[in-house]
Amino acid sequence: MSLIEQVRQAGVVGAGGGGFPTHVKLGAKVEFVIANGAECEPLMHKDAELMASHAAQVVAGMEAVVAACGAARGIIGIKAKHTEAVEAFERVLPGSRVELHLLEDFYPTGDEFVLVHETIGRLIPPGGLPHQVGAIVQNVETLFNIAAASQGVPVTRKFLTVAGAVRQPFSGAVPVGISFREAIELAGGTSEGEVALLVGGAMMGRLTRNLDECVEKTTGGLIVLPGDHSLVQRKERPETSMHRIGKSSCDQCSYCTELCPRYLLGYHVEPHKVMRSLGFSLSGEDFWNQMGLLCCECSLCTLYACPEDLYPREACQQSKRQIRLKGLLDQARAAVTADTPKPHPLHESRRIPLKQLVRRLGLTDYDAPAPMRQLDLAPRRVRLALKQHAGAPAEPVVQVGEQVQAGQLVAQMPEGQLGAAIHASISGRVRALTPRLEIEAG
Ligand code: SF4
Ligand code: SF4
Repeated sequence: MSLIEQVRQAGVVGAGGGGFPTHVKLGAKVEFVIANGAECEPLMHKDAELMASHAAQVVAGMEAVVAACGAARGIIGIKAKHTEAVEAFERVLPGSRVELHLLEDFYPTGDEFVLVHETIGRLIPPGGLPHQVGAIVQNVETLFNIAAASQGVPVTRKFLTVAGAVRQPFSGAVPVGISFREAIELAGGTSEGEVALLVGGAMMGRLTRNLDECVEKTTGGLIVLPGDHSLVQRKERPETSMHRIGKSSCDQCSYCTELCPRYLLGYHVEPHKVMRSLGFSLSGEDFWNQMGLLCCECSLCTLYACPEDLYPREACQQSKRQIRLKGLLDQARAAVTADTPKPHPLHESRRIPLKQLVRRLGLTDYDAPAPMRQLDLAPRRVRLALKQHAGAPAEPVVQVGEQVQAGQLVAQMPEGQLGAAIHASISGRVRALTPRLEIEAG
């Protein structure tokens, strides 16, 4: 069976957060396979811990992808500060076509455009994809899952970090479908009263206060914060209020643009101009909105750069929605992709060190190690989302009341639809198919 088919059957998706079905990406023919081990979200450690503890599996996944894509080389982008992981790779890399590329500790090193430029010195065309410059990028956990898939093992576990206001921050693999509450209990419980969670990271993650939500194949981490933490308050503000304040308070200082990583790489992203769209006439709005189309939503402008605590990222998100709603996508894309990007002369000196970002976010008190733990977890039940990937929801292939084994296929993609298969993460009886496929242990 081909690697693509093994990966499709195992339900592997981009574990870095995107959830794009991996078998689709593996169809490309490229020169380079780049492993994204940059892990730049504050307080997140699971990729570094995974690389340190499972370097051989990551390299095995990399070798398999290098062969499948006809690539000449595999490059692992990893921060030099992760010495344990670097040493683990150095032990297993001799004789392989895979090499390390050591990265500095800035945010957002893990952005695909930044990572490709750092590792192979090429700039992805504006609005384009890595394969256009001869590369594919896979998160290191995805590579671990590819190696497992090549041995017939499906995705039923998710590596994540639980950090922040918890007693014992940790990284580890938990069954897909356990609740956030259970994951936090594994971290010794919360160290504060009422908490809120940033799911996936402080910068690009989403906010929730619902601890009954479930871990999915893309849940990279839970940052637990006191319910009244400034970051929680900022993310909780209603969007209309964000834009109303932006309209009245933005003084066009342009710091948001001057520190924007996409702008610094030479792409047509200028959030301070997008901010103008909040207060301009309709014709002006369409023009300014274009400047947000290539924004990668890294949040650096909103959570770090803006001295007024305004919301340029959210203005960019709104601008993208408006462009689509008005049917102006082709026109806007043509306007912002016409030029070949050329990095700003100061792009290296304006990088934001992670420590500085952690301070600005008010997270210094929580900036602690989250070591890998071998978890012996026997959850009473799991609830599996049928759509935990890009594309359409998977369709159950089991019935309520049916006994299933851990690793058994329980939901499959309809023929021809983009998505990924889902497998039981525990053995037990199927209790419900919707809204989530629920399995009770036993
Ligand atoms: S940094 Fe803030 S105040 Fe300055 S232009 Fe950007 S949004 Fe406006
Ligand atoms: S979120 Fe802000 S800083 Fe990040 S890419 Fe978008 S505009 Fe630039």
